[in-house]
Amino acid sequence: MAYGAFKSVIDAQLAEIRAAGLYKTERQLVGPQGAQIRVASGHGHAPDTVLNLCANNYLGLANHPEVLKAAAEGLQHHGYGMASVRFICGTQDLHKRLEQALSTFLGTADTILYSSCFDANTGLFEAVLDERDAVISDALNHASLIDGIRLCKAQRFRYGHADMGELEAALKQASACRLRLIATDGVFSMDGHLARLPEIVGLAERYDAAVLVDDSHATGVLGPSGRGTPDHFGLADRVDLITGTLGKALGGASGGFTTGRAEIIELLRQRSRPYLFSNALPPVITAAALQALKLVAQGDALRAALRARTAFFRTQLSGLGFTVTPGEHPIIPIMLGDAALATRMADRLLEEGVYVVGFSYPVVPKGQARIRVQVSAALSHEQVEQAVKAFAKVGRELGVIR
Ligand SMILES: *Cc1c(COP(=O)(O)O)cnc(C)c1O
Repeated sequence: MAYGAFKSVIDAQLAEIRAAGLYKTERQLVGPQGAQIRVASGHGHAPDTVLNLCANNYLGLANHPEVLKAAAEGLQHHGYGMASVRFICGTQDLHKRLEQALSTFLGTADTILYSSCFDANTGLFEAVLDERDAVISDALNHASLIDGIRLCKAQRFRYGHADMGELEAALKQASACRLRLIATDGVFSMDGHLARLPEIVGLAERYDAAVLVDDSHATGVLGPSGRGTPDHFGLADRVDLITGTLGKALGGASGGFTTGRAEIIELLRQRSRPYLFSNALPPVITAAALQALKLVAQGDALRAALRARTAFFRTQLSGLGFTVTPGEHPIIPIMLGDAALATRMADRLLEEGVYVVGFSYPVVPKGQARIRVQVSAALSHEQVEQAVKAFAKVGRELGVIR
């Protein structure tokens, strides 16, 4: 049998992952995503229904009645699947409307949809840059930006996370290149830190570079009108390109986009491989995303609820004596240091009816294990109070707080 060698090599890798404590298991939800979720039984002493504080469902749209209704109408009027890429026979009016709606919402010239933000990022750099150019990226950027950059032939420069001195040095080194593109996450997902956009944009203007922000954790969430990190800093018109996801605040299903300069979007439609060689988004998703975007653009009520819950949770946990990384994003890291403690605390919280996840090395630096909470506008004030009580109880029990 020809497969024999594979089995032993793969088994050894799996054993290594297990031995390092990095083996990931998947918790099964039996029902929709939301503030309260039903988890399959068989998780020790955990109750069947728990509060969910670890989804990217920032605005609670993943199971919102108006989004569900739009999805059903999309299915009914536009069918189930496109069975085509966009440029053959996979473009519906819904795709063009969603692209237009995203451009209008974000104040950009044009938008191109992808099956995911992962695809948007892997399809961007190679289509735009070649060996004459330079791409300069933050060391903590999302995996999809890293992979996208790997796929292109441009010279690569990497600066230490948020290190503006290193960014400037890289820009100087790249001064002879034809084009320079700075790529950064808008919000860094393990810490909830925002990119230092005012400085990044300033340096870009000084050294003649364009700026790309992957705003997956911020579109719909940050900024006075929910337009994301550039909006938060009042820099919406000084960022050249934004990539984003429909899989977080904007409904949470799937899908992604690149938005910004008209010529670049036009070129992406001609050259971007995940766009050219992968199926069009299904009508259920485009129709629902249009409705999600409408709810996001309509006003500030959902974001106001999200801000209120986030601020309350942060103050309560700091008040109890937990080490909470300061910030304003609904990603809230509770620093514990020890990896085993983070795992134990997450397990105990689940038994107390609160679902959160502990993160440790190599996802975060050694000695910086943490529990990462993500607040959602779907949580009621009472539910957040309930979560705080569980943190207090478990924190005291494990000696994290007194
Ligand atoms: C979630 C995320 C992605 C991936 O988005 P998908 O649409 O799920 O592929 C890309 N970049 C960042 C920064 C993210 O947080």
